[in-house]
Amino acid sequence: MALSSTQQQTFEKWLNKHNSNYKCPCCGDKNFGLGEIIAPPTFSNGTINMGGNTLAMLQLVCNTCAHVTIFASVPIGL
Ligand SMILES: [Zn+2]
Repeated sequence: MALSSTQQQTFEKWLNKHNSNYKCPCCGDKNFGLGEIIAPPTFSNGTINMGGNTLAMLQLVCNTCAHVTIFASVPIGL
């Protein structure tokens, strides 16, 4: 699900509060785009489980090197 403008602002405020100088851990650039909020499947006992309890995550994509950083979305308020 793409983020609304309100969600984008919420994340930007949260990131600036926690690390106003955030840099890509791969290339060191500061040029990012927001991806989607994702809820990946879980894996246990040889089975991939879709749905159920999973951690919703927000993707932050480096526009320079394509590295993707993920953040737990619920504690951010998304
Ligand atoms: Zn990068």
